[in-house]
Amino acid sequence: MKIDFRSDTVTKPTPGMLDAMMSAKVGDDVFGEDPTVNALEEMLAKMFNMEAALFCPSGTMSNQIAIKCFTQPMDEVICDQTAHVYRYEGGGIAYNSMASVRLLNGERGILTPEIIEPEINADNIHYPNSSLVVLENTVNKGGGKCYQLSQIEPIAKLCAAKGIKLHLDGARIFNALVATGDKAFDYGKQFDGISVCLSKGLGAPVGSVFLSNKATIKKATKIRKVLGGGMRQAGFLASAGIYALDNHVDRLADDHKNAKALANELEKADFVSYVMPVETNIVLFDVKPDLDVDQVVNAFEEKGVLCNSTSNKTIRFVTHLDVNEEMIDQTIQVIKNLKL
Ligand SMILES: *Cc1c(COP(=O)(O)O)cnc(C)c1O
Repeated sequence: MKIDFRSDTVTKPTPGMLDAMMSAKVGDDVFGEDPTVNALEEMLAKMFNMEAALFCPSGTMSNQIAIKCFTQPMDEVICDQTAHVYRYEGGGIAYNSMASVRLLNGERGILTPEIIEPEINADNIHYPNSSLVVLENTVNKGGGKCYQLSQIEPIAKLCAAKGIKLHLDGARIFNALVATGDKAFDYGKQFDGISVCLSKGLGAPVGSVFLSNKATIKKATKIRKVLGGGMRQAGFLASAGIYALDNHVDRLADDHKNAKALANELEKADFVSYVMPVETNIVLFDVKPDLDVDQVVNAFEEKGVLCNSTSNKTIRFVTHLDVNEEMIDQTIQVIKNLKL
């Protein structure tokens, strides 16, 4: 069996999670009558100190719904140039919200008020209206780098002062919370919207939840319907999310430890020129300039280790629930002995 580091989305439900799914109480969620979906939404809203929540089929949909809620056509969304909402959501900002995007250059995707403020447009008929800032925590393209809550607070202050909404793409927010020790509850008052993924490190098969105030979630529910994301007996899926929140949050620390162990070994490898410092469950490293990145990925695959290239010199390993310590030891041996 191959050891799969391509993404933390490749996990399969554990036996305990499957049991929870099979015994879920369900109803028609488009009528608001699925008790398990309602329980998941309430659980996350409480956890993040937000008024309401909406269960969505994917992180992309929950982000796109958020952007649609917080912008009007001709507005501008401000985000880092690495942002998932910009790079990996298929041009959805233009298609769904008819908004333009102002891309900023944060340090490994981390923005500051100093970077954001000069890019907020003045009220002038020539300029798009800057109506939304999107942060990502952890930053996927930044190698899983985290914001501390204390770095977010001044950004939230700036946005509030300028009348701009602030959304968090929290696909891996629980990795950030485990790594920083910040509390989910303290996130609610910083953001107008938060997307949380259940199908990344938490190990659920499907699902993401959008958190906001009651009025925004009402609007979001309509948009989800229009996008075709209204699901019926979705409680089977929501129960996997509840199970993940109950059982798979604290263990993210193991993924972080495993990622650091891989990074330590990669530092020593002669085919590697640079390893990005690891903060959570993502390891990004560059291969030596004389090597072809695909050749390195293929050499790993031949030894039973799956990973992805993310550029013509960078390779990504992501640790997750389905990679145990023994597999990490095996992978360390593969790194030690890789012949190119
Ligand atoms: C995975 C991911 C998403 C959502 O992805 P889906 O595959 O649509 O669930 C959003 N933002 C970031 C940073 C991600 O890594």
